[in-house]
Amino acid sequence: MPRKKKEDIKAEEIAKGEHKSSKKKKEKYVDPDQLLEEYLKDVVEGLGIEFLGLTDDEYIEILREPFASAVGQVKTKPKVKTILNRLLSNRDSMMEYVAVRLYFLRDIEKLGDTQLEFLVYNIKKGINQMIDKLYSECKRRNRNDLIEILRYSWNQFGILTPLRCPKCGFNAIMPDLSCKVCGYIISMKEVKEQIDVLGELKTLASIESADFKEIITSGYFFYTPQGILPPSKFVPSQGGIFYEIVLNKDEKKILSSIYIDPQKR
Ligand SMILES: [Zn+2]
Repeated sequence: MPRKKKEDIKAEEIAKGEHKSSKKKKEKYVDPDQLLEEYLKDVVEGLGIEFLGLTDDEYIEILREPFASAVGQVKTKPKVKTILNRLLSNRDSMMEYVAVRLYFLRDIEKLGDTQLEFLVYNIKKGINQMIDKLYSECKRRNRNDLIEILRYSWNQFGILTPLRCPKCGFNAIMPDLSCKVCGYIISMKEVKEQIDVLGELKTLASIESADFKEIITSGYFFYTPQGILPPSKFVPSQGGIFYEIVLNKDEKKILSSIYIDPQKR
């Protein structure tokens, strides 16, 4: 079988390519960016976000991506109503998207009160990324009402932790004992008071004596959302919340006195 010369193949490919691109030129898709500029006022009003008082350029920057996917790849211009219906098919997540984009658009200190309110009310899952800044800004503006909304959202969407921050009251104490919301570092004494270490371990002694024995022997345990775990039962998971609690001399002494070795009974 005669093999085609390399040059011939190339020429064929070029010819094919040219053919394809000339065909493409005839199909003209709607340019979503152009359409957004044309529909901007109606889209902003339709979404009910004109009260944010942003500039046209800012609205365009925020809406570009969701608008383009709502338009899709079409050759005839969709009506603004059709696009709005698509954008609002899940209003909550659309507003969450706008809130996140707004957060990255302007420095939080430069947001107007209405904009900050919108952010706080709509941030939802985005709260994990920006809670510290939102909290300090609401605090700076003396907006306890907004802090309460943040707390509500944190309890729903945040990294809810078993330990509560004594300073801001959010359940946001990370494994390094720092508060993700206000930055406070909780002391081991405060941790132990909150857990009621002695009380909990005494209870453990009566229900899981092997675990209890391991904890007083090793001198530490892990506190997790599932409660107290001895080192051998603790399996760290990625992103999982846990605290390593080290017992001091006094605690060990008190606890050892209540432990009765089953073999000596
Ligand atoms: Zn805190």
